[in-house]
Amino acid sequence: MTSERDREMRGTTRLQKAAIESAANAIFITNKAGVIVWANPAFEVLTGHPVDEVLGSNPRVLKSGKQDDKFYRDLWRTLLKGEVWQGRVTNRHKSGGLYTAEQTITPILDGDGVVTHFVAIHEDITARLASEERIAHMALHDFVTDLPNRYALDSRLDVELIRARRLGTRVAVLLIDFDNFKEVNDTFGHAAGDELLIAVGQRLKRTLRDVDMICRLGGDEFAVVQPDITNRRNAANLAERLLRAFVESFDVGSQEISVNASIGVSVSNRETTSKSEFLREADLALYRAKSEGRNTYRFFKSEMDREIKRRVKLAQDLHRGIQHDELFLEYQPQVDLGDRRIVGIEALLRWRHPELGIVAPSELVPIAESSGLIEEVGEWVLQAACRQAKNWQSRNLPALPVAVNLSAVRLRDPRFVSKVSRILAKSELEPRYLELELTERVLMEGKESVKRTLETLDDLGVRISLDHFGTGYASLDYLRRHPLSKIKIDQSFVHDMETNFKNAAIVGAVIDLAAKLDLQVIAEGVEAADLVQSLIDEGCDEVQGFYVSRPGSAEELMLLLTNGSDHIQAYPR
Ligand code: C2E
Ligand code: MG
Repeated sequence: MTSERDREMRGTTRLQKAAIESAANAIFITNKAGVIVWANPAFEVLTGHPVDEVLGSNPRVLKSGKQDDKFYRDLWRTLLKGEVWQGRVTNRHKSGGLYTAEQTITPILDGDGVVTHFVAIHEDITARLASEERIAHMALHDFVTDLPNRYALDSRLDVELIRARRLGTRVAVLLIDFDNFKEVNDTFGHAAGDELLIAVGQRLKRTLRDVDMICRLGGDEFAVVQPDITNRRNAANLAERLLRAFVESFDVGSQEISVNASIGVSVSNRETTSKSEFLREADLALYRAKSEGRNTYRFFKSEMDREIKRRVKLAQDLHRGIQHDELFLEYQPQVDLGDRRIVGIEALLRWRHPELGIVAPSELVPIAESSGLIEEVGEWVLQAACRQAKNWQSRNLPALPVAVNLSAVRLRDPRFVSKVSRILAKSELEPRYLELELTERVLMEGKESVKRTLETLDDLGVRISLDHFGTGYASLDYLRRHPLSKIKIDQSFVHDMETNFKNAAIVGAVIDLAAKLDLQVIAEGVEAADLVQSLIDEGCDEVQGFYVSRPGSAEELMLLLTNGSDHIQAYPR
């Protein structure tokens, strides 16, 4: 019996020994004096110290200096009370490197409860910590540029806004967005785009103080937090420095790439408590910088808030406005300078908003474009204008072409020509009584498809004129390559040609050019009688402007058409 139990016990002891020997965790035993008396093979793997070398030495050989004296004092106090000590310790590997272990030290007591030995178990958590650190880093950094990301920005703003309020200082946030990143990606490819982002990030970082923070928020958008400033001038200086950083091109692979950026700036004040509001302000300012010429910076102003709220409201209400017949057209005559008769009519869009009153096309059209409603709006305008032109004709008024302004977006629609044909057919208006006004932007973006569309319209008999001439690219090539019938000289040149000799020269040159290319030419924005004479002297064909008539309702225009043949009456013959 006894010998069987002895055998069993010996067997168990052998198993326990094998388990400890093969354990993945380093295990070692010290005597009460702290001298290592036994260690398992994993100890050597973890610490680099061969077991037979450490026997007889103190675990001090593992010390890294990363824990202070207090750490060891607490450890010993626990152990000497006969309690288990557990904690994290960073030790030095024999080769010099550091490792971190989760350590459990258990005191072994004899029959009288006196400590005789200590068993220490070390679980290596270096790899786990590294991957935890990597994950933590990834959570707060952008993977392309390795700059802090949006979450890092958020938490930094939380801290800085509180600090600024406490210290009575201010914080600026600057949102930076490239003006032409899409082109870079399209031209050089996404890999070059990524490299460019890295290069920009590094260069911008070099323009900052240590306390400033630069983040990449995604796409081509970066943000800078500038804490501890006293006034807006500090932020303006930084914005200027950041813009200057874009002046020199960036070396990306074997190419040099140039990009510009726009910057929106918001500076905190005592009322700034919400970081999302603070960022939204910078975003509004950025939007303004973009719309006011790009490659520039703008500060947030409270009017921007009102404007954007209005835009949002208009965008929300536009669909309903179209459905509820809130859109309407006004008509402005175009008068021949030779016989002083009305020879054409331009249809101008308006929106009677039930709460906000009349909304002008300069505000309405961009909203329709960005909210995807421009097709619906454009179609409505075309239909209404064609129907009205036909209506005048059926009242035996002189048959005149009606001119409709086209948003640049519309010519990209491959079904545009068939839509125009359908509308003409439905309203029974002959194509020669429809004129479409394009801007140079349309031709500039012009792919072959735009040219073909215009040629098909021309074949149909629809007239095409070039609006706002001179304010865009004024490319002579466009004039030559497209089937245009008329050039409209932009009012910015016409208004002050009496006093501004440069504008007068431009107007004169455009009139000559049109004559040579056999195009009609009309001067817009004619407000005063003496302008009429100058334009006649220059050989201009037609005029349009308040001097002849402001845009008015269909009825008002009908009256003009019915009454009198001379539409420039105030000007002596
Ligand atoms: P535009 O095609 O150059 O139209 C002429 C604009 O100048 C009109 O402004 C007209 O009211 C104004 N105007 C006419 N004569 C004078 C003048 O003597 N002095 C001054 N100061 N202004 C004069 P409106 O109606 O506000 O339209 C502005 C622009 O909006 C138009 O410029 C046109 O580009 C665009 N637009 C108007 N209707 C439509 C439309 O149905 N669709 C699209 N896509 N754009 C439109
Ligand atoms: Mg026009």
